[in-house]
Amino acid sequence: MFYLLTQIIQMKILYNNNDLNEALNNVSKIGFVPTMGSLHKGHVSLIKKAKRESGKIIVSIFVNRTQFNNKEDFIKYPRNNAKDLSLLEKFKVNYVYIPKKEQVFTSSKKLIKTLKTKDKILCAKYRKGHFEGVLNVMDRLTDLIKPNKIFMGEKDFQQLFLVKKYIEKKYKCKIISCKTIRNKNKLALSSRNLRLSRKSLKKAEEISKDLIFFKNNLNRFKDVKEKIMIKKNQMSKLYNIKIEYLELRNKKDLKIINKIKNSKLFIAYYLDKIRLIDNF
Ligand code: AMP
Repeated sequence: MFYLLTQIIQMKILYNNNDLNEALNNVSKIGFVPTMGSLHKGHVSLIKKAKRESGKIIVSIFVNRTQFNNKEDFIKYPRNNAKDLSLLEKFKVNYVYIPKKEQVFTSSKKLIKTLKTKDKILCAKYRKGHFEGVLNVMDRLTDLIKPNKIFMGEKDFQQLFLVKKYIEKKYKCKIISCKTIRNKNKLALSSRNLRLSRKSLKKAEEISKDLIFFKNNLNRFKDVKEKIMIKKNQMSKLYNIKIEYLELRNKKDLKIINKIKNSKLFIAYYLDKIRLIDNF
């Protein structure tokens, strides 16, 4: 009996598509959490929500080369499969899919070659080809796994927005958004934080606290756009950082707005040559 129980709850690790198809053959509804590994509490919150909303869940670990517009960023992206697997086992994930790129990109067909002009904003403006890479890998993974729900974080808000738009149109699958998880000093958890020095980590925490306060008080100003422009210049000098964008946008359609209602304040900046993004 005990043997039977351990068999039932044992996590299955799937390294190729034959294993994947065999494992999911009789599973009708599955929740999917796509990741690039180096898992942290942000990923865990997605897993917990997926477990609450789905019978069985599958987590993928795949560092997708095609979404990195910078080769060094891809090479230095933190990887730690052994640690990830023990964490996934602890949270009783049913299946983990760890494919090689040949398993994912089995067809040369692409969901999209280039984003629509109106989508070339925020990160899409600065990371050429990034979201095309994200959308194509999400298309391949969704086609292979056939989940009925995919759980994604608001930390990567533009990614969530675009994946929802493209994937829900093509597949019978819902994209479920999950809140950003922060550390006790308000910094959004991210695998890239592992690459920051202690000093930069502290600075990133200060920046997050600063922007949370700024966003909460933004409704006191008449000319919001100008206030944000001034803030961007002040922060660049104060923290000695390169800010790519600091913009207030409507969270429904990502259009620039000057009202606080339904807005998100988006930032992308470099620290220790590492690009960090967040939204408030
Ligand atoms: P990644 O492994 O960075 O590609 O992220 C995999 C998923 O986890 C994405 O849907 C992210 O938006 C989500 N995620 C990453 N960091 C956080 C966080 N701090 N809070 C919530 N979700 C997150």
